[in-house]
Amino acid sequence: MNRKVAENPPPSRDASRFSSLAAGEKARFRRGKGARPGADGGGRFAGMKFLLAGALLIACGTSGLRAEKMTYEQALARIPDRPARAFWVGDVADLPARWQTLKRGKTRVFAHSPGGRALYLVSYGTREPQPRRANFNSAIGARRPAAYCDRAARRKPVILFVGPVHGHEVEGLTGLVNLIHVMETGRDLRGREQAALRQLGRRCRLLIIPAGNPDGVARFAPRRLTGMRVEDLRFWGQGTRSDGTLRDWPEVKQQHPMVGDTVGFLGCYFNDAGVNPMHDEFFAPMSPEAPGILAIARAEAPDLIVSLHSHENRPALLRPAYVPLETQEDARQLAEETYALLAKRGLPHATPFRARAESGPRPASFNLVSALHHTCGATVFTFECPHGLVGPHACRVTPGQILDIELTLYEAMMRHALRRHAALRAAAAAAGKR
Ligand SMILES: [Zn+2]
Repeated sequence: MNRKVAENPPPSRDASRFSSLAAGEKARFRRGKGARPGADGGGRFAGMKFLLAGALLIACGTSGLRAEKMTYEQALARIPDRPARAFWVGDVADLPARWQTLKRGKTRVFAHSPGGRALYLVSYGTREPQPRRANFNSAIGARRPAAYCDRAARRKPVILFVGPVHGHEVEGLTGLVNLIHVMETGRDLRGREQAALRQLGRRCRLLIIPAGNPDGVARFAPRRLTGMRVEDLRFWGQGTRSDGTLRDWPEVKQQHPMVGDTVGFLGCYFNDAGVNPMHDEFFAPMSPEAPGILAIARAEAPDLIVSLHSHENRPALLRPAYVPLETQEDARQLAEETYALLAKRGLPHATPFRARAESGPRPASFNLVSALHHTCGATVFTFECPHGLVGPHACRVTPGQILDIELTLYEAMMRHALRRHAALRAAAAAAGKR
């Protein structure tokens, strides 16, 4: 197993922390209940690592299926030794301290997770209140969307950034905390000048939810997956069955909430109650995260919303399901613009999706992204950033490139929203003159 990758330098970690936890605490942590072996993850288990790293995945030959096993200790031992990156944010523990230093952004707690962790909204730009006569779907029923929100009457477009609802997908958390730093200081957390991005941000109202599932983030001991393998992604993301075998995607979605005797390590997809906010029951919510996010969308009527995720492959904007074809087309146009900007900066990207209606024997699911559209009418999409895994199918990127990819997406979104908003206002002004 190739554990020596370019970004992995010598160990500098405290191997004793997990060992020092009482047995009960270890079990609690494995199940995702509260205790955390420390900030900035990986590395404190160096001693165990070298004993265990070689022989972790066991292939079982029943029925020709591979059932790969991994224990929590083995998963910790696989975390490579890597340098600390000051610009990387892989945990939620220090977020309150960061918010205390904000001078321009407004912070509020909009929900608490089942694990008792706060969900934050950080906003920039003044809210433009409007009289509201109807909720979104009633306004659509009236064929008068402006009865819910007259977007053309607002001076600025509104953009909602939904940080990771899957706890191990911290690339979006890193990106959004850097964006907040840019809006505060004009520089990202590397100290790099981002004046153009800040200028664009100031022309919009920005609503930033840095972490959509803080329980899942807290459970994510590696703090980042760069240089690791798809098996690590499966362990930390989807978790294991009670017999220690790794769960697969999308099989992992067959049980929801993920609770009970079948659960081994609870993957970071889930909050501490075993709920994956992407697939909450939106008409009868199972947990606080998704309804809290939807309430922000309902109140603020954003023009553009992204749900930030990560995967093994190249950066991709995904087709939003169960939304009008015109909304899909708007998201597809944004995908083209984002990919062009990524290409210009020498960064990888996927190819744009094609808009289409839902159909077929296995149609897409109505997920949080679909629900967001039907709450407020925004153009909404999922963004998948590469984790920077190694392996035959992985998109190899460094932590710095991951931050560049995230910031490039945000820039493309701001440019797109500003252009659409200007066109909307021009059309409304022309209609007013007729
Ligand atoms: Zn995800």
